[in-house]
Amino acid sequence: MSATAHHKRRSDCRLCGSKDLALVFQLEPTPPANAFLKASQLNEPEEKFPLDVFFCRSCNHVQLLDVVDPELLFGNYVYVSGTSPVFVEHFRKYAGEVLARQPKLSSGFAFEIGSNDGTLLRFFQQAGWRVLGADPAKDIAQSATESGIPTLPIFFNAEAAREIREKHGTAHAILANNVFAHIDDLKSVALGVKELLSPQGFFVFEVSYLLDVIEKTLFDTIYHEHLCYHSLGPLVGFFHALDLEVFDAERVSSHGGSLRVYVQHKGAARSLTQNVAALLELEQEFGLYREETFRKFAHQIDALGRELNSRLKALKVAGKRIAAFGAPAKATTLMHHFKMGRELIDFIVDDSPLKQGLFAPGTHIPVCPSTELYSKLPDYSVVLAWNFADSIIAKNKKYQEQGGRFIVPLPQLKEY
Ligand SMILES: [Zn+2]
Repeated sequence: MSATAHHKRRSDCRLCGSKDLALVFQLEPTPPANAFLKASQLNEPEEKFPLDVFFCRSCNHVQLLDVVDPELLFGNYVYVSGTSPVFVEHFRKYAGEVLARQPKLSSGFAFEIGSNDGTLLRFFQQAGWRVLGADPAKDIAQSATESGIPTLPIFFNAEAAREIREKHGTAHAILANNVFAHIDDLKSVALGVKELLSPQGFFVFEVSYLLDVIEKTLFDTIYHEHLCYHSLGPLVGFFHALDLEVFDAERVSSHGGSLRVYVQHKGAARSLTQNVAALLELEQEFGLYREETFRKFAHQIDALGRELNSRLKALKVAGKRIAAFGAPAKATTLMHHFKMGRELIDFIVDDSPLKQGLFAPGTHIPVCPSTELYSKLPDYSVVLAWNFADSIIAKNKKYQEQGGRFIVPLPQLKEY
């Protein structure tokens, strides 16, 4: 492995260990996507890391091999799921579906990896289950514990699983949402699951689905927090090799399109559902097991980037002022890969008080409150949270009425 103090590059596939890896999409290197800067930090050196996407020719898993120090990425993680009513509702339904699969248990033990503020576990607790979470973000773990959801401030792995098992017994349900893409040593997590899972229990996790990434041009979800871009096929093989078994899977709508996967001990009671075979066939037909699919995707994205960039340059030459709307983590990828620097974008507006007054990673473009859309009235605003473009435009009709225009960069370049 090559390495700097905050970064290493692995040389083998995260799921199957093969070294037969093909570079299929090379994005512009970026700093960590959420590393917004204070004014006092602007003159300090800022490290950028490669954003190279590899395809495993052995198991078809799509992944980054460059691993940025998790402390740097997650140590001060501010995302709290309970703050969004959409996620609370998603988790309420999700808990109901998981509980319905354990009809014989009046009470059980649910454990969640990356449990954040405990929003999902709370629904299990309300159903009479014992619950325990693990989340490496210390502040979040502490406040979850104080709010009644006991949460260990740790990275979960096989060793942690043994300790939890000794203290609390085996778990009837183990949950993990949007964490299975974030962990470099997936094998250690899966071995931990195996250690902690009761004989007839199951592990269920949700991850962003690679098929949706390609189909909906969600290339900007590629950033260093997301080490894996999962499809079902490679996961089936991965669990099989560890004496675990995928017995069900389904597509769900969260995070722009996700995959929910159910896993049990090999040979446990549940029979394999039709869903698994149907999804594997879909992936095969869609081309997820061919590296050409990803090379084509890269060309398509690069063409969109050139189109946007030349449009912005032309507007700038014509003397127009251009802002950007929304500063989600994924905007870091989009702005770097589409070369949207300070020479093109005057400022970014964002509703989150946590980001206002800060500067975007890498580009150092200032982040201002959304009201500045009206006080400064830029001629154009590029919608960086483009998956919410419809509602952003609907809420800002006044901006358009005052002459402002929105530019939506993806899935196709459009102006409103
Ligand atoms: Zn592999």
